[in-house]
Amino acid sequence: MNRVQKIRCVTLLSGGLDSKLAIRIMQEQGIEVEALNFKTIFTCCQDQSAQAARDLNVPLTVLTQQDDYLDIVKHPRFGYGKGANPCVDCRIYMFERAKSYMEQTGAQFIVSGEVVGQRPMSQKKRDLHAISHHSGLEDLLLRPLSAQLLAPTLPEREGWVDRSKLYQFFGRSRKGLIRLAKELGITDIPMPSSGCALTEPLFSRKVYDLVVLEPESSRWQFELLKHGRHFRYSEATKIVVGRNEPENDMLQYVHQQKDASSALALVPQGFQGPVVLLVGEETEAGRHFAAGLMLRYSKIGPTETTATTIERRGRSNETIIAQTDESAAAALPITKQ
Ligand code: SF4
Repeated sequence: MNRVQKIRCVTLLSGGLDSKLAIRIMQEQGIEVEALNFKTIFTCCQDQSAQAARDLNVPLTVLTQQDDYLDIVKHPRFGYGKGANPCVDCRIYMFERAKSYMEQTGAQFIVSGEVVGQRPMSQKKRDLHAISHHSGLEDLLLRPLSAQLLAPTLPEREGWVDRSKLYQFFGRSRKGLIRLAKELGITDIPMPSSGCALTEPLFSRKVYDLVVLEPESSRWQFELLKHGRHFRYSEATKIVVGRNEPENDMLQYVHQQKDASSALALVPQGFQGPVVLLVGEETEAGRHFAAGLMLRYSKIGPTETTATTIERRGRSNETIIAQTDESAAAALPITKQ
């Protein structure tokens, strides 16, 4: 490639320190950078990436997952990390999308802030190699923070990037990275955080429960994991209890969605209590268990009985009498099992 032609790369930007450094290193070498943030239903760092892109003065595009991403969460080829995080598969998926974006926009290569050995699940040398290979990027994927520990990539061999000005960071320590950030004028140094609920132990229990017992689950069921206390009543039925007013509103909202797999919503009638969803197969015993959970978490006390409204999509509401239920009184949410 003629050096007069402007070299452009696409850099994955989470908003964390590593990806900010990767961008700044490319800018120092006169490379034009476009930032790409990848958002899944389990991540929450979009604002951090937007702020980072503003600070670094690079254009940012946010890509969201397609539903096929959930297949990765259900059956990761390279396994899970400490939680339900399928990091190697997830990164392969991200880089496949980044590769398409690079081709569409005419950029020459992809850059990532990965550091060899920083994360036990996804950043060992062999993981980085698997990610480059299975994403189809091969040596078009440059990791400037650890490049000198890895085989030279095409941008280095072609002289688009000066390998001698790249780095050999290794492992989990952030000291050297923070020092480099200061040298490169990055003053806002974010705390390390994956920003991904799949890495959280309690959330992961709900994911495993869903993946094992409801293998056909779709986006709606995964979205529901973010709201309420989840109780596994039977293999075919789960009960979700709102923990506060916003969650009660959210449960009623998701229950009305077209792709919802909740059979019914129990809504307190004239007393303070949670909204409860029964998801999956509805039985009379399951309904009583759900009503029992509603009483357990209501303000009217565990020994009372009271009327509650049953809402089903597309049908008029019914009223049932909720009674205390011993198994509901003793049941543990999935996160405590
Ligand atoms: S932490 Fe979450 S978003 Fe990040 S690579 Fe792992 S699974 Fe993907």
